[in-house]
Amino acid sequence: MEHIPDRIDTGVQRREESAAERWARFAPITTGDEYVASLRNRGVTVYLFGELVAEPVDHPIIRPSINALKRTYDLAVEDPDLATAHSLLIDAPVNRFLHIVGSPHDLVMKNRMQRRMGQLTGTCFQRCAGLDTISVLHSITYDIDQAHGTSYHQRYLDFMKEAQRNNIILGAGMTDPKGDRSKRPSEQADPDLFLHVSRRTEKGIYVRGAKAHMTGGLNSHWIAVMPTMNMGEKDRDYAVVGLVPGDAEGITYIYGRQSCDTRAMEAGDIDKGNAQYGGQEVLVVFDDVFIPHAHVLMDGEYGFAQEMVARFTAYHRASYVCKTGLGDVMVGAAAAIADYNGADAASHVKDKLVEMTHLNETIFSSAIASSHEARQLPSGIFMNDAMLANVCKHNVTRFPYEISRLAQDLAGGLMVTLPSEQDFDHDVAGPILKKYFQGRANVPIEFRQRMLRLVENMTLGRNAVGYLTESLHGAGSPQAQRIQILRGMEVERKKGYARDLAGIRQQEHGAA
Ligand code: SF4
Ligand code: FE
Repeated sequence: MEHIPDRIDTGVQRREESAAERWARFAPITTGDEYVASLRNRGVTVYLFGELVAEPVDHPIIRPSINALKRTYDLAVEDPDLATAHSLLIDAPVNRFLHIVGSPHDLVMKNRMQRRMGQLTGTCFQRCAGLDTISVLHSITYDIDQAHGTSYHQRYLDFMKEAQRNNIILGAGMTDPKGDRSKRPSEQADPDLFLHVSRRTEKGIYVRGAKAHMTGGLNSHWIAVMPTMNMGEKDRDYAVVGLVPGDAEGITYIYGRQSCDTRAMEAGDIDKGNAQYGGQEVLVVFDDVFIPHAHVLMDGEYGFAQEMVARFTAYHRASYVCKTGLGDVMVGAAAAIADYNGADAASHVKDKLVEMTHLNETIFSSAIASSHEARQLPSGIFMNDAMLANVCKHNVTRFPYEISRLAQDLAGGLMVTLPSEQDFDHDVAGPILKKYFQGRANVPIEFRQRMLRLVENMTLGRNAVGYLTESLHGAGSPQAQRIQILRGMEVERKKGYARDLAGIRQQEHGAA
């Protein structure tokens, strides 16, 4: 099959490793510490602040994002009922972030685990897009095989056995930079603005392009690249799904900045707000990266790109239940500040906490309902109800903003005027601050500082990326959900209900 324009093949040659060679550099991971160790010495190319990062694991800005993923391993050890599941594929317990969903109950348990992870980290723990990709690839490879006689599903199952045995993290590389939005992938002036196949050899394919704002990209052991939108026949080289180790030759990471991220480089941990955990988004550049055939799960079947994206959004928009865990932290922080200020008995304080809880539980109810209403696909896997998943994500584009507003209301202006930790420690300034910022007598001032900084962190600082802007744009911006809701709202059927009850249908029949 020859459909690659000359301009795409750059002639770059990589080591054409087999699937077995690629898996040979992994060893099974159990604990969070083992996960962190697995990220060391990978030799990946990472840019941050205009410099190459020598060892990402030790970088103060990067490390909190690694800690968040580390927590997914530790939770599986601490609470296996919640965070592990029995895999029929390898007949053993696996981390729920690698589990193939076999029932609506599996999806409900996934949502509960995501809420718990949000409570534990107060940020984006970066592992759900990969999990949802695992679900999508199960069904879409099966469906492509049925239509085209390919063998992608078996390749997928073989990959997943290794992924589960080694307990790796799979990241989702979905969002292309997209260039001129009025043009198709194949029409872009620069062909690399959508990731595409640049060459085919006997052993596999080469891909070229980039994936933008990829959640946890640098912290993943493997990356699944896949189309970001529907594709036409001319885009067939762009209709590609492949599985690539994060340290494959030709990959470059450029780290995304987050609000107040340099606080991670300051001394002390109070002003960081959440010193332990953070999220991560990176630009991942694929400069002619080789993928052996065994790890290619779509190559040119452009007719499945749109359905693949639709299934991904059905899963992933319900995964935004993660934000209810962060909402729980916000409610707790606002209530604690009210306590520290001696305002906890005021009726308006209680009412604001009720409002925050109502909004948070509304998000949870749409997500969990979407999982309970899951339906089975031909490959045997279950998929979230798409309408309810879109409603969940649409709630998430709004309610965390209102919850944050109420938390800031209860925190008071001190949240943004509080002097630094260093001033509190200073010989002269410190005693002055401690005199004037004392709240309730039996509450140490440091508790107030820490709680105010946490609200600042989640509503204005580094983890506002995870709690607010990611809530707005992650898994599709608000308009993307409105389009899906429009498609699924069946307004003609509903007009029929109304015409029946209003006695109009009978007249229509009479007139016909
Ligand atoms: Fe998971 Fe939420 Fe982060 Fe997405 S935004 S990866 S659903 S924690
Ligand atoms: Fe996301």
